Amino acid sequence: QDVRMPQRFTDKYDALKTVFGHADFRLGQADVIDDILAGSNVLAVMPTGAGKSLCYQVPALLLDGPTIVISPLVALMDNQVAALRANGVAVSCIHSGQDRSRNIEEWRRVASGESHLLYLSPERLMTERMLAAMAKLRPPLFVVDEAHCVSKWGPAFRPEYADLSRLKSLFPDSRIAAFTATADAGTRADIAQQLFNAKGSVIVQGFDRPNLSLTVIPKVNRSSQLLEFMKDRAGESGIVYALSRKSAEEYAALLSREGFTALPYHAGMSAEARFDNQERFIAEDGVVMVATIAFGMGIDKPDIRFVYHVNLPSSPEAYYQEIGRAGRDGQPADTVLLYGLDDIRMRRQFITQEDTDREHQLREHKRLDALLGYCEASTCRRQVLMAYFGEMTSPCGACDICDNPPERIDATDAAIALMHAVEQTGERFGANHVIAVVRGADTDKIRQFGHDRLPSHGTGERWGDGFFKSLVRQAIATGYLNVDMQRYGRLTLTPQSLSLMNGDGAFLITEPKAAKTTKRKRKAA
Ligand code: ADP
Ligand code: ZN
Repeated sequence: QDVRMPQRFTDKYDALKTVFGHADFRLGQADVIDDILAGSNVLAVMPTGAGKSLCYQVPALLLDGPTIVISPLVALMDNQVAALRANGVAVSCIHSGQDRSRNIEEWRRVASGESHLLYLSPERLMTERMLAAMAKLRPPLFVVDEAHCVSKWGPAFRPEYADLSRLKSLFPDSRIAAFTATADAGTRADIAQQLFNAKGSVIVQGFDRPNLSLTVIPKVNRSSQLLEFMKDRAGESGIVYALSRKSAEEYAALLSREGFTALPYHAGMSAEARFDNQERFIAEDGVVMVATIAFGMGIDKPDIRFVYHVNLPSSPEAYYQEIGRAGRDGQPADTVLLYGLDDIRMRRQFITQEDTDREHQLREHKRLDALLGYCEASTCRRQVLMAYFGEMTSPCGACDICDNPPERIDATDAAIALMHAVEQTGERFGANHVIAVVRGADTDKIRQFGHDRLPSHGTGERWGDGFFKSLVRQAIATGYLNVDMQRYGRLTLTPQSLSLMNGDGAFLITEPKAAKTTKRKRKAA
């Protein structure tokens, strides 16, 4: 019989050192591993780069029987499997990127006890045939990777993940360990409920990444702001996130013309071209990846020195996951987020155009609101962001607000002038037009609608266009104005607008800042 039974370990430190070559566990890892080994279900929420994989790979080497790892993406599985094989771990993987005979062989090795781990997708696992075969193996542990996909409350719900809630009754003797980098308190509770009836532990490990600096700047001109930021960054590896395939190509070309090694990455490219660019990014120093969100999952490059968002991401979760790719070596790394009114509009539109139910869309709008609140924060950004994830921190000293606390100014008069313009134009126009009206502009559109004859026309002449744009962003972020996305981004009034217009309270804003980034004084972790 040519069956090579893999080495089984009895001590987690022994496995850590012998197989993975690490001296010690990182914060949180041992807790998760101990819970799993004690037979408990676990949901572990740990930031990207914290070392989640090890939390189930070590138990897999100690437990009797195969550990089943459910992962959403072929690329993620391939990465993990390659890394494990490089460490000499017996691991199998079944997915659609391999031909049938290969998949059969991979399964055979699991069934004969030759593999410690099996990676597969939820839809492969949850077929009746696979479940029946699986039952005979009595797996000691099911691992749900990217577990936020289980929850309808999360930003990345996948229906095929919802089906995993059946595992707990199908395999009552197995434990379930779920891992995610992004889940607020409500989502966590929901995941634990779905996967193991909340009978197990939830371990949340430090979200804060103090070595990442946080900067948010209003958009003025995306290209020149990007170049300004890149000025003294020759030789640094970084990611520039763009919204569309086209703009990823354009910014990559722009940076290349300026002498940077900048490569595009997006879903419109061939698999080979994407793979080549990714390999160069990982292998070479000083490559800038200009990418859509298609890039990043499973990327393990420790020395990414910056993440620059040319546009607003979809949610705090997405944003945090994306910037979390920088500085995994613990050395300082800078993150910059540009955002403008057009971003807000577009994000709202994306949500509205999604083919999802109303409740889901409302939740996505709320997430976007939270991100806008972060962008318009007038206190330490890290505090705002961490509070969103349920963590308390003190002012960080490594964000643009800590560096340069904004002046709060009373913008009540300007806000009321603008709100009157919103009201008098019938709550039927977007920010640009309303601002033009209140500033007394003479445009074709204004004349066409007779808006030059409104009482509010020109009542805000004293203030600049940039001032009003900032005011509108902050008003939206704080609920003093609403953007109606079902209707082309029309500004509409809210109960808060009405009470302000009635003379109740004051509307304070942070002074719009000069829109430039300088290289930050670096602060080590
Ligand atoms: P996550 O899945 O949480 O994003 P990974 O599991 O990919 O993170 O691990 C991130 C990096 O940290 C990997 O390069 C991994 O080898 C490394 N790592 C994990 N645990 C340890 C440890 N205990 N000591 C040293 N390095 C570790
Ligand atoms: Zn701060």
